[in-house]
Amino acid sequence: MIGAVDIGGTKIAVGMVDDHGTVRAKLESPTAGERGYADGLARITSMLREAAQNTRTEISGIGIGSTGWVFPFTGEFGDVDFLPTWKGCNPVADLARAFGVRVALENDGDASALGEAGWGAGRGKRRLIYVTVGTGIGGGIILDGQLYRGVDRSHPEVGHHVIDASGPACTCGFRGCWEALATGPAMAAWYKSNAGGDGKDKDLGAKEIFHLAREGDALARRAVERETHYLGLGLANLIGLFVPDMIVLGGSVMKSVQLEDLRGVIAQGCRFVPWEKTELALASLGEDANLIGAARVWHHRYAQP
Ligand SMILES: [Zn+2]
Repeated sequence: MIGAVDIGGTKIAVGMVDDHGTVRAKLESPTAGERGYADGLARITSMLREAAQNTRTEISGIGIGSTGWVFPFTGEFGDVDFLPTWKGCNPVADLARAFGVRVALENDGDASALGEAGWGAGRGKRRLIYVTVGTGIGGGIILDGQLYRGVDRSHPEVGHHVIDASGPACTCGFRGCWEALATGPAMAAWYKSNAGGDGKDKDLGAKEIFHLAREGDALARRAVERETHYLGLGLANLIGLFVPDMIVLGGSVMKSVQLEDLRGVIAQGCRFVPWEKTELALASLGEDANLIGAARVWHHRYAQP
């Protein structure tokens, strides 16, 4: 039984996950980064102990998935916006000491990719890319069954390849990244700016825009077409570069887009690679995907043959 820790912008979730990727117990606490690292570590530790008690098992290892800049092999946290006091702290070393087990840490995009590859939609796929589209675009790349890492074992950012160099400014420094064009908030901003008039009641989220489009609203339909176009272009780029067995699609926006429409965009180009052999599949691990992914981080690091 692996103790899983998912550290996100709004909450820290902790759970016990068995060898089949099933969550046996789960506890949550607000992230509350302003309360400092020692407070966060103490809450994680007590939630792990409680989760273990609830399942009447011993923790045999701990896996952590966290948003932001983390260093998987030293265990240290880098510059994470909502965890300013965690910079330079090392929950891997601290939890290993507290529980006497091995602890593994990855970026949460990589953790989810490992979860879907091990226990989810991508089970058995050797070349898999996981993409999640919500308020940002993140993900992870698995090649030959192993998590792909860049130089200095860095985490590649699939959301920051440029789709339209004259597009809106992105937080990374470029303009028109996939993340700047195809997230839920980007879709909402486009809808608002094209709504005309004072746009007072046009402050809609992506989910509401998809709903309006299904009801036949013309502007909402254009917003969905635009969203589908940009999502499709980004997927086409990933297919052109990697030609993976499968791309697993997670996050709230992906649930509303038609996969066939995405394939339609991809089919417009990609003619030099066998794009039709790359499967598109929705993520299958549900609302506990991050927790399950965090547990899989441990298996990927320590339990492989
Ligand atoms: Zn960017």
